[in-house]
Amino acid sequence: MYADVILPLPLSGLFTYAVPTDMQHKIGRGFRVVVPFGRRKYYTAVVAKVHRQLPGNFTIKEIHSLIDSTPVVTDQQLELWEWVSFYYLSAQGDVCKAALPSPMMPEDLQKGYIQKSEEQFRLNPTFEDTGVAAILKRSPKQQLLLDEIIWFLTENERESISRSEVKELNGYTPMVLNGLIKKEILISFTVERSRLHRKAALTRSPYPLSKEQQKAMDAIQDSFSDKQTVLLHGATSSGKTEIYIHLIDQLLTEGKQTLYLLPEIALTTQLTHRLQTVFGNRIGIYHSGINDQERTEIWQKMLSETPYEIILGVRSSLFLPFRRLGLVIVDEEHETSYKQQEPSPRYHARDTAIMLAHMSNAKTLLGSATPSVESYYNAQTGKYGLVMLNERFGKIELPQISLQNTKDLRRRKKMKSVLAPALIEEINQALENGEQAILFRNRRGFAPMIECAACGWIPKCLYCDVTLTYHKREHRLICHYCNSSYSLPSTCPSCHSEGLKSFGAGTERLEEEVSQLFPGAVVGRMDRDTASGKDSFERIINDFQENRIQILIGTQMLSKGLDFGNVRVVGIIAADSLLNYPDFRSHERGFQLITQAAGRAGRRDKQGTVIIQTSDPEQPIYRLITRNDYEGFYHSQITERKLFKYPPFTRLISIVLKHKDEQKAEYAAISFFRLLRQSFENSVLGPNKPVVGRIQQQHIREILLKLDHSFSPAQAREWIKSAESRLRENSDFKQILLYYNVDWV
Ligand code: ADP
Ligand code: ZN
Ligand code: ZN
Repeated sequence: MYADVILPLPLSGLFTYAVPTDMQHKIGRGFRVVVPFGRRKYYTAVVAKVHRQLPGNFTIKEIHSLIDSTPVVTDQQLELWEWVSFYYLSAQGDVCKAALPSPMMPEDLQKGYIQKSEEQFRLNPTFEDTGVAAILKRSPKQQLLLDEIIWFLTENERESISRSEVKELNGYTPMVLNGLIKKEILISFTVERSRLHRKAALTRSPYPLSKEQQKAMDAIQDSFSDKQTVLLHGATSSGKTEIYIHLIDQLLTEGKQTLYLLPEIALTTQLTHRLQTVFGNRIGIYHSGINDQERTEIWQKMLSETPYEIILGVRSSLFLPFRRLGLVIVDEEHETSYKQQEPSPRYHARDTAIMLAHMSNAKTLLGSATPSVESYYNAQTGKYGLVMLNERFGKIELPQISLQNTKDLRRRKKMKSVLAPALIEEINQALENGEQAILFRNRRGFAPMIECAACGWIPKCLYCDVTLTYHKREHRLICHYCNSSYSLPSTCPSCHSEGLKSFGAGTERLEEEVSQLFPGAVVGRMDRDTASGKDSFERIINDFQENRIQILIGTQMLSKGLDFGNVRVVGIIAADSLLNYPDFRSHERGFQLITQAAGRAGRRDKQGTVIIQTSDPEQPIYRLITRNDYEGFYHSQITERKLFKYPPFTRLISIVLKHKDEQKAEYAAISFFRLLRQSFENSVLGPNKPVVGRIQQQHIREILLKLDHSFSPAQAREWIKSAESRLRENSDFKQILLYYNVDWV
């Protein structure tokens, strides 16, 4: 008997092992095993298939041990893995790694190390160091081992140590260890206690829906009778979330599970609270802020007889084992952060959600105030159901949006700061009324550009082809691609003049200027420099919600689906920079971002004001934005997409090649391009050097496949794979990094 297993390694294909006789009646698809791989290494792997076909003429190794007594990955999950690996051209091992919490897949095991839930020890927090010293005064051996344990924990930044790890330490004997346990200096445990087991929160019933909301709810349910996927196009603050809550409630009565997907961890904070007040601890939260141990527990709970009935999470929660999935909600479905960029698998969580729902015989509800062009097209053509909800809850008007021409203001010497006078005026009024303001700027740091006024020298990253951003607090130049940081030279390294000038304003400079302009207000900033962890994010949002901050400055982080009650003014600084990406989606992104940002103004009880600062107000997209004309925007986009053969009329596969040696990158790209041409003919474009042509010392080339619907996905992938293996035959390209970005956004 043989087992084909998935190893958590970036290798394509499955690996076949012989199943020892005594394991044969215990093993099956979805079980974890320990297998030898490579020289003297052991890995955890997941069984994909058990069969009796004798593999080819190479020697087959035997499975070392079986970890589970029941499968930990369900059949349906494996099917989803297989689809993701096929469709997104990624190794099954990569999908496995993305799907399973890392403690479930320990890598590179030494033989015999594996134990299912090994005993762990941690220090008793009730002892002070001095107290311990007193207790151990007469037990120097125990003191020695304790010192070793403390050293181990500090060195590895861990809170606990396993029994087998203690055994490796100096001075270990079973008796010495037992002494420390008896004195309760060490606490022994097997399963980590975690935050998951909170007491049940008090819950309330969902709010009654307004008439318009009820109509939308009925229309959604109606639409589900003949469509698998429905798009809810509802204005910001129209109550989409309330509708989701009612739908989830409905599913609970049917005994079905709901998966509620959000594009980003930042949004889970507000929503967790909102959903928990209704659903208490029937809801599980799953994202990168949840530690590995807790993720493992959630996985186990989902496999148990009493799984969570609702999961709120980001894209990786798609991979949890659902038993009775009835509905997947994809909130803010237009968000590009649903697409994983790095590392592989580069999957799109919205599209994978639709596939998951399809495999589970469940429904998908996509929700957005600014649907993606693709989803809206699918709704227009009848592939998806479409439900509209135009009225904001409480009949609040959408905000007034106006433009400020900064070029013109500058010419007339009216721009005394980064903010236009009209915006300053609006913020002053808001502050007088005890209201708040939000300012968006899509660049972090102090000054996006430094230049020598004498010779034009510009500081660049040594490892990437990008200019460096000046960060004032650190007083350093930082590369936003690889995070390298450099000291700011006092004179120009090229001509030695002292005229280094900074240009532009990132969020950091904006914060400084705004603090000076409004000395009476507390100014907060939310960007990757101030809010990296989940906690700092929560803190800033809470401070703003409770009015401890009056003016909040942030990058796009701040524009997504947050619900604040007291925001009167939203300012969008340097809006043109949102539209100038060299990419067919840049206007779509700009429209979505500005409209969403505008949606943060005037929620709850009054109309808000939005001011967009632009130096090019004639761009047609601004007229669509100020009139809140989604339909007009959609039509302009879909016409262009059709004309230039972009999605949804084609499918794009971007192929990225990287090499330290630019010549090799170029040569490999040309070779691969030629190989692809043989089958794809004119549907291959390139190869191109991207705008940022080198990142972290790797030179980059891109090839684009633009496939119309006459190519079947299976055929296209077969051609791509065979071209790649032919490319790999050339030993020159051994070190080349090559990956695919399917449906790249
Ligand atoms: P969206 O998800 O469309 O942006 P929300 O569901 O967040 O809108 O609703 C906006 C605000 O209005 C929230 O503060 C929400 O609590 C409130 N709200 C929406 N619908 C109702 C309702 N039926 N009853 C009470 N409050 C509601
Ligand atoms: Zn110079
Ligand atoms: Zn760099």
